[in-house]
Amino acid sequence: MAKEDYYEVLGVDRQADAEEIKKAYRKLAIKYHPDKNKDDKTAEESFKTVGEAYAVLSDPEKRARYDRFGHVDPGNMSGFGGGGGFDFDLSDALRIFMEGGFGNFSDLFGGGGHGFQGGRRAYRGSDLQISLKLKLEDIATGTTKKIKISKLKTCDECSGSGAAKGASPSRCPTCQGRGEVRRVSRSFLGQFVQASTCPQCSGTGEVIENKCSQCGGEGRQKGDVTLSVNIPAGVQSGNYLTLRGQGNAGLRGGPNGDVFIVIEEQQHKTFERHRDDVVYNLLLSFPQAALGDDIEVPTLSGRVKITVPSGVQHGKVLRLKGKGIKHLNGAGSGDQLVVVNLYTPTKLTPDERKIFQELAECEGVNPKEGERSFFGKVKEAFRS
Ligand SMILES: [Zn+2]
Ligand SMILES: [Zn+2]
Repeated sequence: MAKEDYYEVLGVDRQADAEEIKKAYRKLAIKYHPDKNKDDKTAEESFKTVGEAYAVLSDPEKRARYDRFGHVDPGNMSGFGGGGGFDFDLSDALRIFMEGGFGNFSDLFGGGGHGFQGGRRAYRGSDLQISLKLKLEDIATGTTKKIKISKLKTCDECSGSGAAKGASPSRCPTCQGRGEVRRVSRSFLGQFVQASTCPQCSGTGEVIENKCSQCGGEGRQKGDVTLSVNIPAGVQSGNYLTLRGQGNAGLRGGPNGDVFIVIEEQQHKTFERHRDDVVYNLLLSFPQAALGDDIEVPTLSGRVKITVPSGVQHGKVLRLKGKGIKHLNGAGSGDQLVVVNLYTPTKLTPDERKIFQELAECEGVNPKEGERSFFGKVKEAFRS
């Protein structure tokens, strides 16, 4: 396949800025997403192509190389169509989609979560949408969860055929096994052919005279299953995972639906999440702040000892490198930001009050006019 022009693929011009590229990609990726276009190879190809285009054009370095050489491989100077791209498969395309913050269930399927069945044939099993609450600790490292769900399973008595033991289905007389019926109607404008799912066999093309007693000829029955779900690190609320073929069993051996696991991040009592960083508010007493101290603070992976320098200011951010959430793409982790907050005592004993009064008379404890506040630093830290 000749390499298509990435700008044309996304429908943007060569001067398009990052925001335009992102917008164009998002629209196309949602349109062609395989979860919305099941069993549609053309859509899947388009999804891969727009993903590849976005992977290159959203990365300033790759984009510059592409603009210059027409491909992203600096070792291959043969220009366009020379196979100078890179191998890009569906899993890459899906990863790009999710990492770009686009992997949101509601983006794809709308707020109600309905309508994701598409125009499939009637005997395909329906999709199931499961919401999964996750703790920040699990998100930070990634985890495997077992989820019990109730669904329609293939009937174990008839293995999905819907026929009683020894009996076998026969060709549907209404549609002659085609699964759909065509009706030709004529009007003065001409002839119209309308195709619809066969009412007698529900699109399976077969009828069963002697039905399986366990499932009543459906080939499926209600049951519980336990699914094991691998959750990658770095996901966030609204992200979802697709378990293909794990949804409801199809009618009489028809294909299974999918399961969509929609992530719901639980609020943490101690930490606040800012992208892949976590923020921890540390309360320090005046003496600790003035003298410095070695203290233990909680992190998502256990307690660690930190040294608070003497003279630390309210609002100061101490950064624990790599103690945040692993990035979704697997390359590195966010940090834990420890924000220093000064604790002001509200109840003092007479003795304590006396010490504070003495302290107040020391010149060194009073702020000097024009001294810089540290609040600006907090904002700077979050911007990264
Ligand atoms: Zn059965
Ligand atoms: Zn039929």
